Amino acid sequence: MSDGRVVLVTGSSRGIGLGIAQHFLQRGATVCGCSRSEAVETTPGYHHSRVDVSNEQQTRAWVSLAAKRFGRIDVAICNAGIVKPGLMLAVTPSEILDELVATHVRGTFFVCREVSKVMLRQRAGRIVTLSSPAVTWHLHGAGAYAASKAAVEEMTRVLARELAPAGVTCNIVRPGLVLTDSARAMGKEWEDWLLKHQTIPRTVTVQEICNVIEFFASPESSAITGQALNMCLVG
Ligand code: NDP
Repeated sequence: MSDGRVVLVTGSSRGIGLGIAQHFLQRGATVCGCSRSEAVETTPGYHHSRVDVSNEQQTRAWVSLAAKRFGRIDVAICNAGIVKPGLMLAVTPSEILDELVATHVRGTFFVCREVSKVMLRQRAGRIVTLSSPAVTWHLHGAGAYAASKAAVEEMTRVLARELAPAGVTCNIVRPGLVLTDSARAMGKEWEDWLLKHQTIPRTVTVQEICNVIEFFASPESSAITGQALNMCLVG
C-alpha cells in the first residue's frame, strides 16, 4: 500500500518511535524521524536527523527543512520521551525534573509550534502526542514524569482548539506498557504492578499503538480532536 503521506516522528531511533516510523514506511509514507543519536532505520523513504527536541533552534530547523524538502507535513507524532526510575517526590532531584520537562514539555512545545505553522498554511494535518496512562493514576513515584506528560496533554488540547478552524486535529495516545529498553529499565516490580492493575493485563504491541495513531490520522477522523485514548485502561 502506498499512501504518499509525509509523516514526522520524534524519537524514532528505537522503541515505540522506531516502530511507528516502520509502520508508516511499510505503508509507503515518507517518514522524517529524529533523535539525538544516529538512525538505525535505513529503508528508502526514511530520512533521519540528529535533533534534540528540547533545543529550539535544532527543532525549528528540522521541521522547516522537512516541510521545504517534501512540500508539506501530513502527520506529526510527538513520541520522543524519557522514562526515569520512579522516586517519591520528596527525594526527586531537580535534575530529573529538568530533564523530563525539557524532553516532554519543551520538546513537544517546539515540535507542535513549528508543525502548526506548516499545517495552518496547508489547512490540513494531524498531530498526535504520546502521553501515558500515568497521568490518571496518581502513581507512587511518578510525580515528575506524570506532571510532564500532563503538560503535554494540556498543550495538545489547547492546540486542538486553536487549529480546528484550519482543519487540523490534535489528539493524544496513552499507550499501555510496551517493554522497550527504557520500560524494562524501570524494573520488574514496576512492570508487575502495572500489568496487575491494567484492565487488560498484558503488554501492548507497537502495532496496537499504530492502530490508534492511524485512527486519529485517518481522513474519516476529521471531527475527532482534543481527545486522549487510554490503552489498557487501569481498573
Ligand atoms: P525509548 O527510550 O525506547 O525511546 C525514546 C526515543 O526518544 C529514542 O529514540 C530517543 O533517542 C528519543 N529521545 C529521547 N529524548 C530525546 C530528545 N531530547 N530529542 C530527540 N529524541 C529524544 O522510549 P519508549 O519507546 O518506551 O517511549 C516512547 C514514548 O512513549 C515516550 O514519550 C514515553 O513516555 C511513552 N510511553 C511509553 C510507554 C512504555 O511502556 N514504553 C508507556 C507509556 C508511554 P535518543 O536517546 O537517541 O535521543
